[in-house]
Amino acid sequence: MISVEQALEKILATFQLLEPEYVPIMDTLGQVLAEDIRSEITVPPWDNSAMDGYAVLAADTAGATANSPKTLKVIDTVIAGSISRKTVTAGTAIRIMTGAPLPKGADAVVQFEDTDEEDRRKAGKQDSVIAIRVAVKPHLNVRDAGEDIRSGDLVLEKGTLIRPAEVGVLASLGMAKVHVTRRPVIAVLSTGNELAAVGAPVSAGKIYNSNSYSVAGLVKKYGAIPLMLGIARDSVDSLVAALSKGLTADMIITTGGVSAGDYDMVKNVLAAEGEINFWTVRMKPGKPLAFGFIRGSDRKVPLLGLPGNPVSSMVTFELFGRAAIMKMMGIKEMARPVVDVELAEGRIDNRDDRRVYSRAIVTRKGNKYNARLTGPQGSGMLTSMSRANALVILAEDRKKAVVGDILPAIMLDWIQPIEMETGLS
Ligand code: AMP
Ligand code: MG
Repeated sequence: MISVEQALEKILATFQLLEPEYVPIMDTLGQVLAEDIRSEITVPPWDNSAMDGYAVLAADTAGATANSPKTLKVIDTVIAGSISRKTVTAGTAIRIMTGAPLPKGADAVVQFEDTDEEDRRKAGKQDSVIAIRVAVKPHLNVRDAGEDIRSGDLVLEKGTLIRPAEVGVLASLGMAKVHVTRRPVIAVLSTGNELAAVGAPVSAGKIYNSNSYSVAGLVKKYGAIPLMLGIARDSVDSLVAALSKGLTADMIITTGGVSAGDYDMVKNVLAAEGEINFWTVRMKPGKPLAFGFIRGSDRKVPLLGLPGNPVSSMVTFELFGRAAIMKMMGIKEMARPVVDVELAEGRIDNRDDRRVYSRAIVTRKGNKYNARLTGPQGSGMLTSMSRANALVILAEDRKKAVVGDILPAIMLDWIQPIEMETGLS
């Protein structure tokens, strides 16, 4: 048996960063930049107003108050998207909207609320003067050219994970497409004579193939592209035929057929078609695991053989399959949050010195996190995974955990009532 860490290390050692692709920015969410992004423009391009108001010379407002306002002559109006050709000189002002370029001469903007704009509007006065009710300092409500980005800046470094904010930054530079590390294609194959395809009736002795869907769902969740290979029967011919369709992928993931059962022949086929790296990991669920290569005509395709039990295949994917995808995509910040949780419901037993990953619902209670196990933990019970948002971990050398014990938990998802999202409840 090998440890989870040893298994992970061996798997990750075989994967490399994939090559870049040049794609529209909206398609890049969750990918990493394969190039440094330097700006060729200045953002914002010119000084502009942060408020709707009047562009003035700050010196003209000296001493202004609500009771003794300073009256200025309004010589123009400038809205966002336009430029005023006029220059603000002593005694004058230009009406300006948020985002409009600051007119020549002006050095501050007085917001409407500090003028008699509203009174004038209500009274229907069209006079081209405005009363300023506050004294302002130069630069008030002025956004400087280049305060966000200057031309020549290294704005986003190669390797940066693209989130919505980065998509927005790229758009603000006017870039429609960028180079990102491409998404891996992951072939997903379920094995088993007992498996029936969804959408059709099941005959006696058969069960629906759920693993292809839960695993492909995880592949998509983590940003890769599933290639559905369907179901292979427990025969060498069927397996070889199905695997041959996965040779274009960056990785093949199989489920089932890796334990000691009579018909568990993924490992035998692997041995004939490629090479095997290891078989058993000190973890529960998920002890049997195959990892190796299938030889294609021009290259070797890594194959990760997950156990067939629906929970085991998902948990082993979360630990190993996901990490391989992250490495291929160049996502360095790949750890999920691990929090200390207090076991509030349930009990975990460890009879054979394996690391136990228990499905649990983790919620925040004040300053701490509580974990409730999602009922019976049989590795065939997929609904236990469906109810969970975390995997609570019992270390190899601990025999049991009971209510009140503190354990680490890997957060898979964060499930909390939306009204608690303000962060103060
Ligand atoms: P195996 O690892 O092939 O011995 O399978 C272990 C258990 O998981 C058996 O009860 C299988 O019927 C079940 N199983 C295997 N593959 C799937 C699948 N694709 N969908 C649902 N259950 C499966
Ligand atoms: Mg099987």
